[in-house]
Amino acid sequence: MSDNSKLYEGKAKILYRTGDPEILLADFKDDATAFNAQKRGSIQNKGIINCSISSKLFEQLEANGIKTHYIDSPAPNQMRVKAVKILPIEVVVRNIAAGSLCQQTGLTLGTVLAKPLVEFYYKNDELGDPLLTPDRLQLMKLATEEQVDSITHLALKINKFLQGFWQQCNITLVDFKLEFGLDSQQQLLLADEISPDTCRLWDIAQDDPNLRVMDKDRFRRDLGNIENAYQEVLQRVLKV
Ligand code: UDP
Repeated sequence: MSDNSKLYEGKAKILYRTGDPEILLADFKDDATAFNAQKRGSIQNKGIINCSISSKLFEQLEANGIKTHYIDSPAPNQMRVKAVKILPIEVVVRNIAAGSLCQQTGLTLGTVLAKPLVEFYYKNDELGDPLLTPDRLQLMKLATEEQVDSITHLALKINKFLQGFWQQCNITLVDFKLEFGLDSQQQLLLADEISPDTCRLWDIAQDDPNLRVMDKDRFRRDLGNIENAYQEVLQRVLKV
């Protein structure tokens, strides 16, 4: 395999090989998709914004004892990461009811959950990323029981850190999605990104249900001012 060749192109990032098989380069794109890629568009500077936000969060998570795939960020829209085998699971943590939780349970948007909810979804676009039960996780051999326990523990720890971080930005962390991978030593690492694409973020200073939205819901729900909202999130993150 030649160096610096494209390994994989996803909806939001392109992964390139480097001279070192243990290291990949992630290039964050401005492309935006929603509803299982049925809605497509582009958000100006999203690649730079999401890479910058994710880099800062991964650095701080590492400093708080969470192992991540992050190495460094050689350019504003590029991240060097440890090569991992991504588990085909989307781990969602929720503090406040929104999105599919409201649609599937009838809970009112904005209901504060008594304790954080950790959910596992099967990362499979053809099947529409269905919600998994613990038994289905085992049936499909998507992760061992030990890995599921570790991921749940890590997800709750990450949630505690992120809630505090976003609060310093005057932002409420409603919910978010995480992905985990295994490195060549079978070590579990937090991977992918943490950004307004993968978190629901509400401006604490705004009560209006549309004005408060600072994340990809602006794109999903055609709320306008998408670029401004993403930029504003980055500005607040850089001040922490
Ligand atoms: N999420 C994501 N990628 C996905 C699905 C969800 O990053 O493929 C994030 C989403 O941005 C939100 C959280 O996970 O912060 C919970 O999403 P939900 O299940 O409510 O689905 P949605 O309403 O986004 O379809």
